[in-house]
Amino acid sequence: MSMPDAGIAARIESLKVRNSVQNLDFFGRLLMDNREMTIWEHDTNLLPFGARVWRRRARAFAREHIRPCAAAADISPHEYDTRPIIIKASRQGFQTILLAMPLGTAFPGSYFLKSASFQAAVIAEEFAAECGGLALLLMAHHLGCAPLLMSGHIPTFFRHLLPLYAKTFLGRPSVMAFAITEPGAGSDVEETEGGAFAQLVTTAKKVPGGYSINGRKCFISDGAIADKVTLFAKLEGEGLESWTCFLIEKGMPGYSIGRREHKLGQRAADAAELILEDVFVPDRNIVGRLRSGWPNNRNVLNYSRPVVGAMALGHARGAFERALEFCRKTMLGPKRLIDYQDIQIELSDMIVKLWSARALIWHSCSQFRCYQSASAAAKVAASDIAFHVCTKALEIMGDHGYVHDNGAERLWRDSRLTQIYEGTNQINRLAIIEHQWDAELTRSAFAGTV
Ligand SMILES: Cc1cc2nc3c(=O)[nH]c(=O)nc-3n(C[C@H](O)[C@H](O)[C@H](O)COP(=O)(O)OP(=O)(O)OC[C@H]3O[C@@H](n4cnc5c(N)ncnc54)[C@H](O)[C@@H]3O)c2cc1C
Repeated sequence: MSMPDAGIAARIESLKVRNSVQNLDFFGRLLMDNREMTIWEHDTNLLPFGARVWRRRARAFAREHIRPCAAAADISPHEYDTRPIIIKASRQGFQTILLAMPLGTAFPGSYFLKSASFQAAVIAEEFAAECGGLALLLMAHHLGCAPLLMSGHIPTFFRHLLPLYAKTFLGRPSVMAFAITEPGAGSDVEETEGGAFAQLVTTAKKVPGGYSINGRKCFISDGAIADKVTLFAKLEGEGLESWTCFLIEKGMPGYSIGRREHKLGQRAADAAELILEDVFVPDRNIVGRLRSGWPNNRNVLNYSRPVVGAMALGHARGAFERALEFCRKTMLGPKRLIDYQDIQIELSDMIVKLWSARALIWHSCSQFRCYQSASAAAKVAASDIAFHVCTKALEIMGDHGYVHDNGAERLWRDSRLTQIYEGTNQINRLAIIEHQWDAELTRSAFAGTV
């Protein structure tokens, strides 16, 4: 709205649906929600009780603990000590959210109504609205834990996941990482057809009592700080069909960290190379069954893609909020920037995009069982929207958007990564096609009709 004179302003105010609705009869008024609230509050109220609590707690945590550290962690990521924030997040229950109480910290009601990734997605958006790097630092841990859960293997669950959760909740967190990518196999291990041609080097050879693993993984988030890694290797003499997930532990002889990348965005979480030279891994550290690595990996990605979408949404929302603050405070001629209608239309367009991303993300994990194409769609849509919204935010802020001070440019850099990892958006588009191929794409909807 522009700034009209006082008489017109009063008339406009009385014409607003919110204020004029009392002229409707009682049942008509019942059909309209007239409460004044932010979109954040409105959407929070839509959630089941447990997820609502986690959304509020995550926002408070992000503002209190992530916001003040974001700039320093972004500028000097390799020197910044991230351990304190991991411990705080663990003690508050953010690092054990993949299981319901009393085994983890998710509320049982929400947990069984929605996918296990739902509450992680709700938390991810809040963390990522303040800093993508610190959000990834905390969220990559869930990705590392996910194969232990997804294996569906009871001994793995009791042997590895439950003790890790108990320790983490008590404030002695074991940071987990997830390692599939190799120098010669990125997208290939995230897509079925590519998988058939994957050039994998990381190999496990049977030895008495376990396996000896040789090879390399690269770009592993939290790789350098992780206490344990769910790492995928093919069996000697076999291909991707033999892929098996192994739990690698820090300190195992032959296991070391190589190159740590200097990244464009999400810098506070490192992306590291993992080197394995004759690493002995006992049989008890096989996650699930031998040769169950490929379906485990694909389903973990299906579970985590809505969470990546939620991180992207967080970046976009964070940049939007910063642009909004700028528009409120900045005078252009006689008016604030926010009082110009062309700016209002830009802001409105950003709101529509943010809302549609959130709707798709929440839809994609709204059921207990995960649906591949919906997960991939949520990740693609949210990350593309995020990059667009962040770019718009910088545009609105002009030179103020180009400096480090307010975090908008950092969120813009952070958002770019969400289009790349957990499968590039091209690979995620192919995941949608793969999933809908038999049921929809190769079956005519017009068969039998004239
Ligand atoms: C910062 C960062 C953190 C990461 N964290 C992790 C992690 O924690 N764990 C982990 O295992 N991995 C991680 N990765 C790896 C990430 O998932 C892969 O980098 C990503 O999936 C892309 O693989 P690639 O880099 O090998 O690209 P490539 O596979 O070489 O792809 C290059 C280009 O080709 C396109 N392309 C490839 N195949 C096809 C196809 N069939 N059809 C159409 N286009 C195609 C891609 O979309 C892309 O544009 C991370 C990567 C980064 C950058």
